[in-house]
Amino acid sequence: MDDGLKQELTNWLEFYRELGIEEFYRRDPGALANAGPVPPPAATLAAAPNDTPAETRPAAFPPRVATPPAAREPMPAGPAAPPPRVEVPPTVAAAAPIRPPVASFSLFETPAPKPTGPETLEQIRADLGDCRRCKLAGGRKTIVFGEGNAHAELVFVGEGPGADEDEQGLPFVGRAGQLLNRMIQMIDMKRQEVYICNVVKCRPPGNRTPEKDEIETCSPFLFRQLETIRPRLICCLGAPAVKTVLGIKEGITKIHGQFYDFAHSKALATVHPAYVLRNPREEKILREDFEKIREFLRRK
Ligand code: URA
Repeated sequence: MDDGLKQELTNWLEFYRELGIEEFYRRDPGALANAGPVPPPAATLAAAPNDTPAETRPAAFPPRVATPPAAREPMPAGPAAPPPRVEVPPTVAAAAPIRPPVASFSLFETPAPKPTGPETLEQIRADLGDCRRCKLAGGRKTIVFGEGNAHAELVFVGEGPGADEDEQGLPFVGRAGQLLNRMIQMIDMKRQEVYICNVVKCRPPGNRTPEKDEIETCSPFLFRQLETIRPRLICCLGAPAVKTVLGIKEGITKIHGQFYDFAHSKALATVHPAYVLRNPREEKILREDFEKIREFLRRK
């Protein structure tokens, strides 16, 4: 090897050492010549040390680097001109040892972190979608998911939407809803403060009682709503709500006004406002039970 070439090689070794590249491998030049073109990523190419001896390397030897050796300090005396900036030919690239990247994924490939903590009402509604899970879907106009304060201390659970609710997509907006509103006002609360929903989210035909399979299909969404809101008190309006939420089959007139445990909340059963509209003398039950709700919520 003549002195000039030796000096150039020394410069290159020094340069690579400054970059932190210390290992160099000698390959059989024949193998290099036979290697097919492998196009590794440009970033890998730029960082890979070139191990081809000076005598055997092709003209396009030095990889493209940002700072040529001639411009760096300290530099031994050597060629004033930087090594030519040329592309690495594929055969040389294939021969270079390729170090695995530190991380095998980029920021853009990192999967979105899974949300932790409780789901939101919006997520539950989105999951419900344009629900066709039970036969009520065929007769409904609108899914009545629920309405009100997502952080309510008090949640009312009714039976299922009637005609007005089906029309408007909101719970308890018909005559029974007006009576419920009056009761809420009676205990000095506002409708916007509470959350109102039903056991089933689609109107049963002719306002019949929801059937077992319909309740079984729909109630998981109700339970998710209750789990998300975690109110202090759940007020079950009427027998289907009491049976679904508390699993109690006894008549409402027997068990109304009592407090039960439900997950992180308490629950109380009372008569359905529609029942009171049909039996106005029973309004006192509703009033008494709402006074109990007021008392309960007053206690902190
Ligand atoms: N009756 C119910 O049980 N729910 C409503 O939303 C309306 C009337």
